[in-house]
Amino acid sequence: MKKKPAFIIRILMLCAWLVFSYSNSANALSLVRDAEIEKFIRELSIPIFESADLNPKRVNIYLIPDENVNAFVAGGQNLFIYAGLITAATHANQISGVIAHETGHMMGGHLVRLNKEIKAAQIKAMIGMALGAAAMAAGSGNGGGELGTAILLGSTSMAQSSVLSYTRKEEEMADEFGLNLLADTNQSGKGLLEFMEIIEQEQMLSPKSSPYWQSHPLTEDRKTHIEEKIKIDSILAQKKSNKDEEEFQRVKAKFAGYLWTEYEIATTYKGNSEADRYARTLSYLKHNHYDRAEKEINVLLKQSPNDPYYREIKGQILFERGDVKEAQKEFELASKYSDEHPLILVQLAEAKLQTPGQEKSAIKDLNKALGIDKSIAYGWKLLSIGYGRSEDEGKAFYALAEYYAAIGDKKEALKQIKRAKDKLKKDSIEYLKLSDLLNSLKKK
Ligand SMILES: [Zn+2]
Repeated sequence: MKKKPAFIIRILMLCAWLVFSYSNSANALSLVRDAEIEKFIRELSIPIFESADLNPKRVNIYLIPDENVNAFVAGGQNLFIYAGLITAATHANQISGVIAHETGHMMGGHLVRLNKEIKAAQIKAMIGMALGAAAMAAGSGNGGGELGTAILLGSTSMAQSSVLSYTRKEEEMADEFGLNLLADTNQSGKGLLEFMEIIEQEQMLSPKSSPYWQSHPLTEDRKTHIEEKIKIDSILAQKKSNKDEEEFQRVKAKFAGYLWTEYEIATTYKGNSEADRYARTLSYLKHNHYDRAEKEINVLLKQSPNDPYYREIKGQILFERGDVKEAQKEFELASKYSDEHPLILVQLAEAKLQTPGQEKSAIKDLNKALGIDKSIAYGWKLLSIGYGRSEDEGKAFYALAEYYAAIGDKKEALKQIKRAKDKLKKDSIEYLKLSDLLNSLKKK
């Protein structure tokens, strides 16, 4: 990671993303959550996972806000996708190709190798810490640094992509499985081949900086084999479908706006297309040019007033500028148009908690969000704040217990469960939920 912690925390406050990040080390792993990008990746992945007989709900997809071009599977069904992979691609079908190849690694049970293999439990603990650090950073404004150190211990070599690698045999197998999955889901295989050419060019330009090349060794044999297979299969040989292109260009612009320098954005995204404006909006937001960001997003909203993600970004611009009431209105619309996406509900609740008297309403949103996605650690943290302000101590301790469970801190979770038990009424829903939580912790 090239980012300094202050920078990352600033982004966290700025963007409509819950960025989970920390630490000043070059090796820290950070994760990002974003409703729009997750939806795009999920939609591409679901048919591929299903065709591989994997339950899509069981596969965790993690987005890493890093410019390196990379993707890998670790700890079983955890797929890590780097932002740089999205921004390097030129067509959605290339992303599908990569997802199919990575799914091939899952099917083969391949383990990405460090100096030694990463154990599933390590990965799990690491992800837990990553989610927790984020929540910390978001909650305290600048408290992410200390927790970052903890992450570092677990992930020193994790993000250092050069040491991650599959064997050549595994690569061939993943290509084989991947192409079959693309054919089974009626998709062109051309994107996978094109993506390999992109990687090849990157490797030629700067041999040391192609992590994808290093983790998935590309040989001439592999390329030839893929080419042959595409040639003889009419489904794989078909023209790439453009059905996901619009979403792809938006997601790509979003990541670019978020990661690239202002100069890169000004020279690459200089037109008047939706993607151009979206990239500029994100870039302005990142660099605190709120007025310019608002101007761009307003143009996009004029074209698509019911777009949940444009509303979400506008909400974030206003929230960052300190216009909390107006931000809340935008988050309310974003929530409505996204059919109450849990990540957006959490942002809405965060805005509500800024204004006294809205605790009840914020608590309602948070319970709804966490009912859909329990893993949003930051949501549990906000919920405990909401209950705390409503002087509902028992429930505040309960939410805190869930928060610690979500970040993988079993010891602290048990402590909060005990506190909650002393304060909660025995016939309350939360009291019942405590036993569920206790049981799930015992299994871990
Ligand atoms: Zn591979």
